[in-house]
Amino acid sequence: MENFDRHLSPEEIIDYIEGKLPAGNLRRVEIHFARCSECVSIAREMQLLQQAWQTWSAEEHGKIYLQARMNAALIAAAEKEENPEWKERLLQWRASWSGKARVLVNIVKRAPGSTSKLISEGLESLMAGGEEWEFELLPISLASRGEEDAGPETQVVKIKAAEVDLSPQSRKAQIQLEWEGDVIVRVKNFSPTEKPPLIVLFSKENEMRSWVKELTKEKDSADFSAHFARVPPGNYLALFEP
Ligand SMILES: [Zn+2]
Repeated sequence: MENFDRHLSPEEIIDYIEGKLPAGNLRRVEIHFARCSECVSIAREMQLLQQAWQTWSAEEHGKIYLQARMNAALIAAAEKEENPEWKERLLQWRASWSGKARVLVNIVKRAPGSTSKLISEGLESLMAGGEEWEFELLPISLASRGEEDAGPETQVVKIKAAEVDLSPQSRKAQIQLEWEGDVIVRVKNFSPTEKPPLIVLFSKENEMRSWVKELTKEKDSADFSAHFARVPPGNYLALFEP
């Protein structure tokens, strides 16, 4: 004989909210809710709290995860770098790393036939200056480029330039991204007196995927760019050396 007069325990209410109650207990809890407005109001409060908690923890978890990934990408890049000068720079970068990026660019490279979108929400909190980014995917038809041999896996996506201060004295640099099987990070308006930064491109999902390039001046152009060859589809971040 069950005692319906006993109030529900917090554990029972949480299990009820999360749908974890076994059938036998569920019946008893539902009967209690039908009779007891006190437990119903506690359950309502807990439900609101739980929803708020889940939202908060998804955002916080995402942020902490990305910070950990940035950290790991810098360590991995420094460890596997074979160019001694770049290795030294990566080690210094790693040593002075504050957990916030000076410039952070989110890249989603899509596989043929799949849809993708650029996700930049929440990245502001990971950037040193709190800059806001607005990118737009600009698909370019291959036919219009007259490249018949581009291959079925090639999809060109251009991202609208974002303006950013790359150094205190420079003009606003414009960052553009392009894909042609490769990922090209292009910076317009980069001051030629500045030391070109290294750029670490790394996958958000796959720890094995990270590459380092130095921003270099393009031939026959005032632009600077970093060219990452044969980047598989995925979700990437490009991190600029401070
Ligand atoms: Zn009750």
